Amino acid sequence: MSGTTEHLPATGLAWHLARRPEGPATAEDFALREIPVVPPEEGSVLVRNRYFSVDPYMRGRMNDVKSYTPPYRLDHPMDGGAAGEVIASRAAGFEPGDLVVHGRGWREYATVPADTCVRADTALAPLSAYLGVLGMTGLTAYAGLLDVASFRPGETVFVSGAAGAVGSQVGQIARLKGAARVVGSAGSAQKVRLLVDEFGFDAAFNYKDGPVVGQLRPLVPDGVDVYFDNVGGEHLEAALSRMNVHGRITVCGMIAQYDGAPGPAPRNLALLIGKRLRMQGMLVGDHERLRPRFVEEVSGWLREGRLTYRETVLHGIERGAEAFLGLMRGENTGKMLVALDG
Ligand code: NAP
Repeated sequence: MSGTTEHLPATGLAWHLARRPEGPATAEDFALREIPVVPPEEGSVLVRNRYFSVDPYMRGRMNDVKSYTPPYRLDHPMDGGAAGEVIASRAAGFEPGDLVVHGRGWREYATVPADTCVRADTALAPLSAYLGVLGMTGLTAYAGLLDVASFRPGETVFVSGAAGAVGSQVGQIARLKGAARVVGSAGSAQKVRLLVDEFGFDAAFNYKDGPVVGQLRPLVPDGVDVYFDNVGGEHLEAALSRMNVHGRITVCGMIAQYDGAPGPAPRNLALLIGKRLRMQGMLVGDHERLRPRFVEEVSGWLREGRLTYRETVLHGIERGAEAFLGLMRGENTGKMLVALDG
């Protein structure tokens, strides 16, 4: 084994699901507990996590329902994207000090099969970027726009959840790929300013200021060719009403209904017929084949300063639940992360 067991910690902290939420998740649904650190067996590495990701899909995993990812088990450590440093290895090709991304977040120390780790090249971008702009949310934006929606230069794109990790990247990729017009919606005046001033959207609005359809209409005088949906509900209904013939809708997320009962919208799905719209759900895991092209293209744009990104980082493992709850309330700009300092 590389790295000596002598200096390995015996225990570490990990967030557990303490209770399944009814309606919006609350701090009482989570518990931070000490767990044993498992020394790596053959083919595994022990990682000291430096960051873990909190993501909207985790709200679905807190419910006891069958879905595309298994539900979190009550009183068990939670998991999700994480990035950290290998501190002991029993896997060929991995040494202490290597930086990797893996799937056992929400904890300080993770023992993981080496074949589930992806190396992070910090010459290209800081480690945290591998959980956002160069990681899962970045690939979601790239694949959802270019592959699922078959975006073409000269088209008008509308993105909801536009100041978040996925949305802010969708808007910028659309611009970089030659969109005629990019419009976004977000939940505060400050985020709306950021969309235009920093992320280069042509126009943006605060969906909390009034009905979405009324705010969207004047901003897309030539209609919408691609709607990238992160929100669902009223946003989807408004987008459907403004879609052009042969438009495409990527159904990436419906965060408006993750915390409670789904609302009545959209009531105008019949528009799919006359407008010959294509509306397609996506899961980022289906688009792994795009990863090499995605990493090459996005790291190039980052290097050239043509693409920018924001992160909202809460420091300290004890802030994990707070970070997740803040994400669901819109307290993040760009990718929401927890940093495990020290
Ligand atoms: P994010 O956008 O960085 O954070 C979530 C944002 O959602 C919050 O900042 C908040 O911003 C907004 N929000 C919360 N409640 C809302 C509501 N009721 N109505 C409108 N907006 C609301 O998160 P992300 O990781 O980038 O994910 C964005 C979406 O993509 C989510 O729906 C997620 O589930 C989905 N996703 C899907 C895949 C896939 O493979 N299909 C992969 C990754 C993410 P405001 O301040 O603007 O309200």
